[in-house]
Amino acid sequence: MGSGKMTTGSAPFDVQGKHVTVAGLGVSGIPAARTLHARGAIVTVVNEGDDARAREQAEGLRALGITVRLGDGATLPEGTELIVTTPGWQPGKPLFQAAGEAGVPVWGDVELAWRLRGPDAAPWLAVTGTNGKTTTVRMLASILEAAGLRTAAVGNIGVSLLDAVLGEETYDVLAVELSSYQLHWAPSLRAHSAAVLNLAPDHLDWHGSMAAYAADKGRIYEGNQVACVYNVADKATEDLVREADVEEGCRAVGFTLGTPGPSQLGVVDGILVDRAFVENRQKNAQELAEVSDVRPPAPHNIANALAAAALARAFGVPAQAVRDGLRAFRPDAHRIEHVADIDGVAYVDDSKATNTHAAQASLAAYESIVWIAGGLAKGATFDELVAASAKHLRAVVLIGADRALIREALARHAPEVPVVDLDRTDTGAMLQAVTEARRLAVAGDTVLLAPACASMDMFTNYNQRGDAFATAVGELRA
Ligand code: ADP
Repeated sequence: MGSGKMTTGSAPFDVQGKHVTVAGLGVSGIPAARTLHARGAIVTVVNEGDDARAREQAEGLRALGITVRLGDGATLPEGTELIVTTPGWQPGKPLFQAAGEAGVPVWGDVELAWRLRGPDAAPWLAVTGTNGKTTTVRMLASILEAAGLRTAAVGNIGVSLLDAVLGEETYDVLAVELSSYQLHWAPSLRAHSAAVLNLAPDHLDWHGSMAAYAADKGRIYEGNQVACVYNVADKATEDLVREADVEEGCRAVGFTLGTPGPSQLGVVDGILVDRAFVENRQKNAQELAEVSDVRPPAPHNIANALAAAALARAFGVPAQAVRDGLRAFRPDAHRIEHVADIDGVAYVDDSKATNTHAAQASLAAYESIVWIAGGLAKGATFDELVAASAKHLRAVVLIGADRALIREALARHAPEVPVVDLDRTDTGAMLQAVTEARRLAVAGDTVLLAPACASMDMFTNYNQRGDAFATAVGELRA
C-alpha cells in the first residue's frame, strides 16, 4: 500500500461550453445528458438501438435542445471533448477505441457525480465485491443513521449518485455501492474509506479476464483517506489493498469471522469486536454488537455486518451506533428471506443468489437443505459449489434452462443425494418444485431457493422468481 498526496475539496468540474458525448440512453444516460445540458455543456447522445422506446426517450431530450443520434453507437461525434458512458457499455467498443486514439477521456456515471459534486460535498464510504454489496451498504447506512448522521444508501442500488450529489438534500456522509463496471469508468474517485467484500469470477465476459475484473474492483481503494477494508478470508481482497496508492496514514483493516488480530474486526464468543479503531489495539478490543443482532445471522451476513461496521468505525462512529444500526436493519426481499415454517420445515427465499458464489454462502448457512436450484448459468460451472455444499444436501429439485449442468455436477460430487429434475419452464413449474421439495424435506430441514443462476429463462427477474416461490409456499399452506 503506497501513499500519495493529500487531496482537498476541489471546485466542481466546469462543463460549460464543452462538447460532451453521452454514450447510451437509459437509466444513467438520460439523467447524465440532462444534468450536463443544464450546466451549459453541448450534449450529443449516441445510442445503438433505434426502437420505439429509444425514439420516445430521444424526443424528450431533443425537446430540451440535446442532439440525439439513434442507431449508431460507434462513431465519435465531431469535436467531442469528453464521453460520459452508461457503465454497462463494454470497454472494447469502437466508440472507446476512437476516443482513446483522439485522447478523449471517458467517464462513467460515478465519475461524473464525483467531478460535479461541490467542494463541501459529503465524503463517500464505498463498497464493492462480487456478492453482499447491497446488504452491506444498507447496513452501513443504518449504522450511520443510528449515529445521528445525515446519510443515504446510494450508487448501484436504486438511488443515483448524481441525484444524491446534486440534489437539494445535504448529507454528512454517503454509503455508496459501486459495481465493477462503475469502478472501471471512475478514474479519479477518492473515497474516505472503502471495502472489497469478496472476489469470485463474475461478469468476465465484460471485463475480459479475472485479472481485469479484480483490477477494476481494486480501483475502489485508490486514494482512500482513512481505511482500506478487506476480507481476511479472501486473500485477493488484501492483495488489492497492497497494490493501491492511498493517502498518508490510511490503514489496511481486515474483517474476519474468527478472532481478530490487531487492525481487524472479528468475532469472539458470539460478539462482534473491533481491534482496529481502539486505543492500543495490541491489547484492547471494543465490543460492537452480538451475532444475534445481525439479520439473518448467516456466516456471510456476519461478514457483511463486520465490513459495514469497519467503514462506520473508520468514519468515527461510536460502538453503540453499530449495535443500534444493525438491530434496526431489515434485509431486502429475496435475500435469505424466511417465508414460512410448515410442519417443522423452514422455507427460505434467496432468489438473489444468482451466481454460484452467492449460492455457496447461502447453502453453508443451513445444516440440512432441500435445495431448489437452476436457471440461466451464464457460463458458470457448478463443481466447486456442489462439492463444497454436498454435506448439507438432503435432496435437490432442479428447474430452468441450464439444470443439466447442475445435475451433472451432482452426479460427480454428490451421487447419493436424490435429485428431482423438472422438465418444464412454464409458470406452474415453481409450484411443482416447492411441492416436490416439501415431499423430500423432513422436520428440521430448510427448503432453500438459492438458484445459483439468473432467472430470465423463466421469470422477468429474480424478484418475480422469489415471489413465485413465496406464492407456491403459500399454496402449500392453504
Ligand atoms: P449484491 O448487491 O452484491 O448483489 P446482495 O447484498 O444483494 O449483494 O446479496 C446478493 C446475494 O449474495 C444474497 O442473496 C446472498 O445469497 C449472497 N451474499 C450476500 N452476502 C454475501 C457474502 N458476503 N458472500 C457471499 N455471498 C453473499
